[in-house]
Amino acid sequence: MPEPFEETLRQRLEAVRAQGLWRSLRPVDHRSASVLETGSHRLVSFAGNDYLGFSLHPAVLEASVRAVSDWGAGSAASRLISGSLAVHHHLEETLAEFLGTEAALGFSTGHAAATGTIPALVGPGDVVIVDRLVHACCVDAARLSGAKLRVFRHNDLDDLDRILRWASGLSRNDSGGPRVLVVTESVFSMDGDSAPLAELVELKDHHGAWLMLDEAHSTGVMGPEGRGLAAQLGLGGRIEVRMGTLGKALGASGGFIAGSRALIDLLVNRARSFIFSTAPVPAAAAAATAALELMITQDGEQARHQLRSVAAAGARVIHRAFQKPLGSVPSEGSVGHILPVSVGDEAAAVALADQLRAAGVWVPAIRYPTVARGSARLRLTFSAAHTAADLDCLDEAFNRACIQTPPTPF
Ligand SMILES: *Cc1c(COP(=O)(O)O)cnc(C)c1O
Repeated sequence: MPEPFEETLRQRLEAVRAQGLWRSLRPVDHRSASVLETGSHRLVSFAGNDYLGFSLHPAVLEASVRAVSDWGAGSAASRLISGSLAVHHHLEETLAEFLGTEAALGFSTGHAAATGTIPALVGPGDVVIVDRLVHACCVDAARLSGAKLRVFRHNDLDDLDRILRWASGLSRNDSGGPRVLVVTESVFSMDGDSAPLAELVELKDHHGAWLMLDEAHSTGVMGPEGRGLAAQLGLGGRIEVRMGTLGKALGASGGFIAGSRALIDLLVNRARSFIFSTAPVPAAAAAATAALELMITQDGEQARHQLRSVAAAGARVIHRAFQKPLGSVPSEGSVGHILPVSVGDEAAAVALADQLRAAGVWVPAIRYPTVARGSARLRLTFSAAHTAADLDCLDEAFNRACIQTPPTPF
């Protein structure tokens, strides 16, 4: 390697370390529903997004294994090049039916769904307005589109209204625009709170803007039979673009967009991450389809019920550890499956996570650039797969760790 290349990288890495932002991968040798094993260490994990434990559900595993023997390990090419496998169409029909949309389209990841979709819908001269806390993939996608990017304060409808009024005053461009796309999330990934969706839909309709709703953390978890927040509020028909991932409560891997037939046809023709990428593996599509089918069964209902009681018990553990309630009171219908514990300082958050790990539980410290500088936190996620014994471990670990480094709760 040429010396200056290595030297530049070394200096940059040193700067990362000096800011307390160093990240490294921790190999896991074995994983079960809620436990990770690393070497001889056994850790109860409160870090995953497998909210219903479906990544290990027998029906999901069986569908996945069957797809491998029916279709092979890989998909061979992009779906526009080598033919589009029935396993992918089956997933998309199941998704569209589950969400009550005309159509749906699968992508290799949720990230790819965002980066393919936003640039297909808007371009230079148009406007994308995102909530300050939307996932990085939507920010990346908005930048990639070349549209003007504006950010509104988290869940602040007055601020969004101000920006929408500014956008309506822009002069028209070649596409008859500007087109204005608002992007938000149903459950925010690092804070666990929800967008004020009903009011937001009114506002974007009032201004003639479009809405893209990322349901990554609500699909399978919220709403009737896990159909998400839009379904819970009966707003599905008024949201132009619904996005989600197959990798969280659905226990598989991949992303999707659901909406009108015209939207999906446009994406097949214009979404570069769909067109220029090998189709998702058949096993992932089949696993996600099986998980969607489970959602509407007794198993699905049971898992969502279990998740709610684990999340409530988990919150009690954390409240006890800090002797006072954390966070705002969850809004009605909120599941509480994502629980942030504010620490602030990056190094302190890492130190606390290290102490918890030493005490047998894995809770990730979330730092910049995932969240703003100085707002480092522990992020606990709960799953239907957590047992009462897992929660006892959490209780014990927090009591031990918090004596040494008391964080500041929200
Ligand atoms: C995880 C996540 C994504 C990305 O989905 P992947 O399938 O993991 O690429 C998108 N948006 C939000 C809010 C997420 O939490």
